[in-house]
Amino acid sequence: MSSTTTHDLRLSGGTVVLAGTGAQRADLLVRDGRIAAIVEPGAPGEARETLDVSGRHVLPGVVDAHVHLGADITTPRTPEDVRPETAAAAAGGVTTLVAYLMSAAPYDEVAPPARAAMEADSLVDFGFHYCIGTGEQLDAIPRYVAEHGVSSFKFFMNFRTDEGQRLGLPGNDDGFLLELLEAAAAHGAIVNPHAENADLIKLLARRGALDGEGNDLQRWDRSRPDYVEAEALERIGFLSMLAKADVHAVHVTNAMSLHVLRDVRAHQPRISIETCPHYLTLDTDSEIGVLGKVNPPLRPPSDREALWAAIADGTIDTIGSDHVPRHGRFKEGGLAKASPGFPGMQQLLPLVLTEGHVRRGIALERLVDLVATRPAQVFGLGDRKGAIRPGADADLVVVDLDAPGVITAETELAGAGFTPWQGAEVGVRVERTIVRGQTVFAEGAVADEAIGQYLPRHRSGVLPTVAGDRA
Ligand SMILES: [Zn+2]
Repeated sequence: MSSTTTHDLRLSGGTVVLAGTGAQRADLLVRDGRIAAIVEPGAPGEARETLDVSGRHVLPGVVDAHVHLGADITTPRTPEDVRPETAAAAAGGVTTLVAYLMSAAPYDEVAPPARAAMEADSLVDFGFHYCIGTGEQLDAIPRYVAEHGVSSFKFFMNFRTDEGQRLGLPGNDDGFLLELLEAAAAHGAIVNPHAENADLIKLLARRGALDGEGNDLQRWDRSRPDYVEAEALERIGFLSMLAKADVHAVHVTNAMSLHVLRDVRAHQPRISIETCPHYLTLDTDSEIGVLGKVNPPLRPPSDREALWAAIADGTIDTIGSDHVPRHGRFKEGGLAKASPGFPGMQQLLPLVLTEGHVRRGIALERLVDLVATRPAQVFGLGDRKGAIRPGADADLVVVDLDAPGVITAETELAGAGFTPWQGAEVGVRVERTIVRGQTVFAEGAVADEAIGQYLPRHRSGVLPTVAGDRA
């Protein structure tokens, strides 16, 4: 790198977390929205703006590949659907999000207004997953991949018969699922199953699972327990083996499911495993009542420990927030009526770094792999996103690893107006978030300009690829 070249930005004096080699002192030089060079601290290199980040860690921006947007969580439509949620993303160090569009209509109709709403108001870069529920959508998969740049498709295994009506989605069976897996395999796409067995959930409801002893979260767990999830994961594992398809097992919550997935992977390695911050930091003993209602449910503390062990040993690939923007008033009316889910993007990184690194001593580079590098690779963004290396987008987050704080409803920027982590202590603070060289969050404030860009993703897949290669 010639010292006569002027860069746009220099981050100087920080400890940078690099893929493979771990945390080291280095300065970063940014030009035209990309990382131009990683140099020794203080090495020559002119820049128009220099940020002193000494005493801080610089990580690649979080790639949150599990986000729901929109007042009814099916698609973002309005500024209110986009601005507060992406402000929460920026404040949490998320620089890329991939949101689920969920509709029974063709995505040729659904996606353009969603994209326009995001382009008008998103502070961070974004892509979409499509939920597939109709034959027309299934037939359009080649076009969705090639023309829309969408190469990941959600399937609700629990939406049989009328279960999906809450979201306006039809019910499907395992035959439809196998056809979806085959179509994904044929076109370089991945399937993201919501794995729960609806028949068993109905049986447990008939047996009065919600009426037993214990607090709300213990009863919700008993109404859709670990085996409801594990059975569906075993089934998708088998079907994906038949179809030779890639699968991203979203929101895995418990020891039994991990056991099943480890077995399946011995025959079917093309499965990546996601868990979420809430399964790592909350459990059925958490005193948060229906605010913690989510599907799949929060589990007993022993499952939480099993997830951390699976993070430490490499079984789990990614962490996504499963961010749900619905307002807190949807949590009213008791356990059965309360809406599942809660916002999670803003606290994903602080919670994972606090619990994983500060409290449990897991290496930063392992955690960065889970929240940034692997999700970018799996979802076809590995050539631009998820790692700090020359040529990649300058998506960066500056964190203070020794900054005790408390999460409250007032700290949260998302529109929901509540957080299940009310009163939780975190030890890590996001100080600054940078998207393609531009600061979108600093000193507690989000930027005014919505610079978020749509990210076409023409190929997704589990198997590792060389850095810089399209996944
Ligand atoms: Zn979700």
